[in-house]
Amino acid sequence: MKKDFKVEKTCETCNIIFKVHRYRKDTARFCGHKCYAKSIIGTKQPQSQINKRVKAIGDPWNKGKKHSAETLKKLSDSQKIRFSKEPAWNKGLKGFMSGEQHYLWSDNKTYSARYQRLKNSLSWKEWRQTYYSLIPNII
Ligand SMILES: [Zn+2]
Repeated sequence: MKKDFKVEKTCETCNIIFKVHRYRKDTARFCGHKCYAKSIIGTKQPQSQINKRVKAIGDPWNKGKKHSAETLKKLSDSQKIRFSKEPAWNKGLKGFMSGEQHYLWSDNKTYSARYQRLKNSLSWKEWRQTYYSLIPNII
């Protein structure tokens, strides 16, 4: 017969007796993840635990690091070369297709806002559903 290495424990949430391997006889407290999840509802993680987690994740590798003067010069030069060849795509386009020239320009912002709100409302949705459910019957 196979020897049973498991130990019986009682779940702290649902009081069901469950079996765990011996190495968990002191740490196991719940029969499953569901019961563990139920047990932590409304409890707050201790600050020490939070600190531990933050420390484990750590800072981003480049936090507080600065480029050396040489690197900054390189970066600056490369940008200069880039813009000496081609100007920025939006250079001289100030005011182009903006304001009233834009195709979505509306004189009456209040009206469109009200219309949007109405279209997103529940009564509109209900009306649509009834209307479109009736159409096949009409045809
Ligand atoms: Zn349980």
